[in-house]
Amino acid sequence: MNRPIAVVTGAGSGIGRAIARELSRRGHHVVVSDLDLASAEQTARELDSAEAHRLDVTEPEQSLDLARGVRDTHGRLDAWISNAGISKMQRFVDTSPSDLRRTFAVNTEGVFYCGQAAARVMMELGRGGVIVNTASMAAKQGRVPFLADYVASKFAVMGLTQAMAFELAPHGIRVNAVCPGFVATPMQERELAWEAELRGVSPEEVQRLWVNDTPLGRLQTPEDVASAVAFLVSADAAFITGESLSVNGGAYMD
Ligand code: NAP
Repeated sequence: MNRPIAVVTGAGSGIGRAIARELSRRGHHVVVSDLDLASAEQTARELDSAEAHRLDVTEPEQSLDLARGVRDTHGRLDAWISNAGISKMQRFVDTSPSDLRRTFAVNTEGVFYCGQAAARVMMELGRGGVIVNTASMAAKQGRVPFLADYVASKFAVMGLTQAMAFELAPHGIRVNAVCPGFVATPMQERELAWEAELRGVSPEEVQRLWVNDTPLGRLQTPEDVASAVAFLVSADAAFITGESLSVNGGAYMD
């Protein structure tokens, strides 16, 4: 196969689905993966050249099996997008040990294990590669209500991105992150309802607060994030590594 191969995790929904579409549009064969195989298959059906796989990013051997399977089938692995993530809004003092563990298992350990799997196979193949991690605006500032565990898990992703970029650079592997703001996805629908309940206001009022907090004056689309990811994957970003790129309409500037 001549097309470059890109794996996207959490690609059955929201931002991951948009990333899969954008990389496909730019000529990649996309390995669409998700915890939920049916949603991955739905994404893959829309694309020119794609395949769907079930992948739970909290299971290190599953990531490695997928990366090795891609290598065995296609003989190459050009890009890996670690996008899967979860959130649950609640007060810091109410967050249980199991919720904290689950958030870190998916958002931080998942990115760690997927990055290891991708890097091992890219190093074996010896052709370099690109890894992009989906972090968050909440990876750069903790001034975020009701998401203390999520903030901690995403700050870790930003540090991990830099550490990976540093160690993998000699192998020609670039590692970057994107930091989205308020993106209209199923995750956001859940957060609107939680925040409204916790603040005692309507979901519409919460949405208004988020838009008011965004200088560019609208909610973000998954496509806003997908085009930034595609840029980081592309040769236009050939000398960018270790970067955590804000894609948030100015909602947080660092
Ligand atoms: P989403 O619509 O909920 O999509 C997330 C996808 O990840 C879902 O398909 C979900 O599958 C999957 N997933 C969950 N746990 C998984 C696991 N253990 N292994 C593999 N896949 C798993 O959320 P989204 O808004 O697109 O979020 C995508 C990424 O962007 C996340 O990392 C999120 O933290 C980040 N982000 C989102 C926003 C935002 O405002 N939406 C802002 C900043 C950053 P199921 O549906 O089957 O659980």
